[in-house]
Amino acid sequence: MTKLSLPSLPTLNSVVTCQSDYDPESLRVDQALQIVQDFVRPGANALETETVGIYQSLGRVLGKDIVSPINVPAADNSAMDGYAFAGSSLSVDASTSLQMIGKGFAGHAFVGDVEAGQCVRIMTGAIMPNGCDTVIPQELVKVDGEQVQFISTSVKAGDNRRLKGEDLSVGSPALTAGKVIRPADLGLIASLGMGEVAVKRRLRVGFFSTGDELRSIGQDLDPGCVYDSNRYTLFGMLSRLGVEITDFGVVRDNPEDMRRAFSDAAAQCDAVVTSGGVSVGEADYTKQIMRELGDIAFWKINMRPGRPMAFGSIQSNGHQAVLFGLPGNPVAVMVTFYQFVRNALLAMSGATELAPQAMQARASENIRKRPGRTEFQRGIIKSDSNGINTVSITGAQGSGVLRSMSEANCFIILEHDQGTIQAGDLVNVVLFEGLL
Ligand code: AMP
Ligand code: MG
Repeated sequence: MTKLSLPSLPTLNSVVTCQSDYDPESLRVDQALQIVQDFVRPGANALETETVGIYQSLGRVLGKDIVSPINVPAADNSAMDGYAFAGSSLSVDASTSLQMIGKGFAGHAFVGDVEAGQCVRIMTGAIMPNGCDTVIPQELVKVDGEQVQFISTSVKAGDNRRLKGEDLSVGSPALTAGKVIRPADLGLIASLGMGEVAVKRRLRVGFFSTGDELRSIGQDLDPGCVYDSNRYTLFGMLSRLGVEITDFGVVRDNPEDMRRAFSDAAAQCDAVVTSGGVSVGEADYTKQIMRELGDIAFWKINMRPGRPMAFGSIQSNGHQAVLFGLPGNPVAVMVTFYQFVRNALLAMSGATELAPQAMQARASENIRKRPGRTEFQRGIIKSDSNGINTVSITGAQGSGVLRSMSEANCFIILEHDQGTIQAGDLVNVVLFEGLL
């Protein structure tokens, strides 16, 4: 991976506002996002490509442009079950009558020429016979022996014909490198007769939780302890991105364990995601070790939840990994992941389409909000009987209330300068479906 240097933080003079809680050290969400995006910009650390079978390419990032080696479809063919004929045979009279001279099926073309006044019984997908450019659907004709009759105005010349190469023509770009391969793309690749696909290798992402109070599943929950849930949330979120993940477990708040975990993860991975230990004023070693091993910026971000975060790179064994030190609170982990980590990892993976777009919905209730920070509330969006989307919050919105994420189906994003929302106001939402 190319060595990256951490850009200097933007000056904050431009963001001074009159809020009483204004913190000159805090970054706006959009500023922090810009720094992350610049740092992991596509191409800065382009991954190698590897060739996989078509089934294995689902969800992977396309490594090279695919140029169509053939026309799809290969020849003009019928879009309907019906009768093929020359459009010039359409009568100027009310009714057109044609003589049927044969049949053509998909995979079994009619052989021969079709003259004026003649037609061929044809099925969907069958090659258009010589001399034919139009198909009349079978529902619109009356057949009497070899005579096929229909109302002349029921079709126009050229109707119901699929043109050679109308899906893809020889030499045209079918798919562009950087596309995440979805079901339609698999079909498109198959339609070109290709059984193998060049994809970027999977990004390697390591993750661990930090904290002396964390207990793992199967251990007793001692007083003051909590089960480590962040590693499971991170496992789920990372799995959805199609990256190769390595779980480095729970790391205790002591310098030796921390140093070993960060070094091991950075030596093996392209990116490392951790949770906990980055809170303002926290008395643990996470920040110290991160700084010792890498080039790290610590941020307070004007957002809720998820205020503290570390971002930068760490070196180990001659290898550099991008580091995301997320907060410890379970909801803050998810919010900061979706706000900062998801798109960065996709960009590092070489993917060109990133965040799902925000959409708007009407707030079904007042939502309290202070200007001067971006809030990510957990919402439930519903369509009413008129198809209008309304959204409500999931109740308790504390950054430790993971249930709020579990019950929600969207984030409600309340922008930096926005104040309290009144019921009926439009708010931005990002659906979990497609994101999570
Ligand atoms: P920290 O950022 O390390 O100060 O953690 C903030 C809060 O999140 C504390 O209440 C921690 O107990 C909690 N927390 C930290 N890591 C985890 C984790 N992996 N699973 C569940 N809760 C956690
Ligand atoms: Mg901690």
